[in-house]
Amino acid sequence: MTAPIERFDQLDLQAPILAALAEIGYETPSPIQAACIPHLLAGHDILGEAQTGTGKTAAFALPALDRVDIGKRNPQVLVLAPTRELAIQVAEAFQRYASKMPGFHVLPIYGGQSMVVQLRQLQRGAHVIVGTPGRVMDHIERKSLNLDNLSTLVLDEADEMLRMGFIDDVEWILQHLPAERQTALFSATMPDAIRRVAHRYLRDPKEVKIKAATTTVSTIHQRFLQIAGPHKLDALTRILEVEDDFDAAIVFVRTKTATVELAEKLEARGYAAACLNGDMTQQLRERVIEQLKNKTLDIVVATDVAARGIDVPRVSHVINYDIPYDTEAYVHRIGRTGRAGRAGNAILFVAPRETHLLRQIERATRQPIELLKLPSREAVADKRVAAFRQQVAEVLDAEDLGFFLDVIAGMEAQHDADIHEIAAALAFLAQKDRPLQMPETGRPDIAQLAAGKPEPRAPREARENRGQILERRRDYAEGRLARYRIDVGREHMASPKDIVGAIANEAGIESRFIGQINLFEDYSTVELPADLSNDVLQVLRRARVRQQALNIRLANPEEAARERGRPGPGGRGAPPKKPFRKEGGFDRQGGDFKPRKPRT
Ligand code: ADP
Ligand code: MG
Repeated sequence: MTAPIERFDQLDLQAPILAALAEIGYETPSPIQAACIPHLLAGHDILGEAQTGTGKTAAFALPALDRVDIGKRNPQVLVLAPTRELAIQVAEAFQRYASKMPGFHVLPIYGGQSMVVQLRQLQRGAHVIVGTPGRVMDHIERKSLNLDNLSTLVLDEADEMLRMGFIDDVEWILQHLPAERQTALFSATMPDAIRRVAHRYLRDPKEVKIKAATTTVSTIHQRFLQIAGPHKLDALTRILEVEDDFDAAIVFVRTKTATVELAEKLEARGYAAACLNGDMTQQLRERVIEQLKNKTLDIVVATDVAARGIDVPRVSHVINYDIPYDTEAYVHRIGRTGRAGRAGNAILFVAPRETHLLRQIERATRQPIELLKLPSREAVADKRVAAFRQQVAEVLDAEDLGFFLDVIAGMEAQHDADIHEIAAALAFLAQKDRPLQMPETGRPDIAQLAAGKPEPRAPREARENRGQILERRRDYAEGRLARYRIDVGREHMASPKDIVGAIANEAGIESRFIGQINLFEDYSTVELPADLSNDVLQVLRRARVRQQALNIRLANPEEAARERGRPGPGGRGAPPKKPFRKEGGFDRQGGDFKPRKPRT
């Protein structure tokens, strides 16, 4: 073997291509490029496997460009890509790598674009066509795409094309191409179905496999946050505020509606955010990505499909707001950061019931995901104060304050005020729109909720003493606690423990904030903080105990008053007795529940 390739000029590429690469600023060929380019230049077929973000585009585009005859204006290279976004991205890459090749033309063709425009563009001619399978088939059938002079075919992101159901179309296209051609197949993974296609249509291919998970992913700092649904938004904004190296983020959610809702909420909180989903027109989607690139936007909230393959180097953070369903999706998602050799951050939100998915991802990627400690309210305030001081120091340093000194001197004289008090008043004014302190909510800080290891169940808490019970009575009397009704009762075999567990886990309400629970035949009442947000209530409405949706709502006065039922029989931990009593009250004592003493 020869020495490893460390510079592009060690590859036998034409001078204009090397000049373009120098201008773009690529220093060394990535491993997949170093391994594939010599084979492709020598005319071999290639079966290339490497993770996303490893530079597969240039691995095929550079040698393809090298072989293009600019004098002939008919398609010599065809690249098939799974989505419109990727087709456009690959076409853009060709354009950049060919910037020193005057007269070069690349044309992306994909569904959704006007046929008339496409036909005109095809008539004008292009050296390289990058298209999605369906649209390429259309044009071959209409004979608007003449591939008689095709010398190179590339199947890009083959596994994705398989996943999206394009494999038959791809085979159809393969059967309609000149037999004398070079074929390169690139994929992040190599499922059997892809391997079969490769064996059928590639001639004695050189197989190049770049070991997964180490090259790109090791530059991505992966962390997870244990957080329940209703607290995710607060957690997200807190993370955005305190991450030191934040530049731009892609936030992944599961549904199209969630992209819209979350983007709106972030916008309302002052972030330059927008959504990206499959319902948006191609034009809109491209605009969003362009705005992310040019810093008009800092946050894009996206679904997996819409964000596939996005390549915006300034993305410093990928937030998995909703955990992905499988490891592959996770790897694709976090590959949107740490691009082009930069460091990246991936933060995964894990709801209590999703812990197994976290472990599954860790196992499959063979990389531990670190626990992220959410900073406390105080830590956030400290950070804001530090930034404020910095700003003040900069003004003191750089600005001419003569006029303002006079204004202050005037105030001092007129109000006979202490100069410190005046300064404090000004600081108050300066932070009014973006307060330095985080508001007290009366609820536990999400930093506490998010701390610590995943808890599959509500934690056993210290026993409540009589004083705490009295305090809770007072909270109830004074309206800090309210009584809610849930549609789960004894006939559903529910125990107070089940109910506390569900409420604690689903809504992230610590069990010490959950008061008295009264079980009735087909419903129960439970004391919870009176100021539960709508988000929390919505989650609790859907939460289930023993297969039964809680459907939580404020108890009506009659239900609320029914708390003084007779104490039920059976001691701590006793199984539910049959036949069920009509009603019974329990005062919670630690993790267990004891029959409530009749009130005296
Ligand atoms: P893949 O197709 O494997 O997911 P891409 O071809 O989209 O990866 O490349 C990922 C990023 O890396 C792009 O931003 C690209 O410009 C950049 N890149 C590719 N090759 C190099 C290189 N040799 N040096 C630096 N950056 C590179
Ligand atoms: Mg790619």
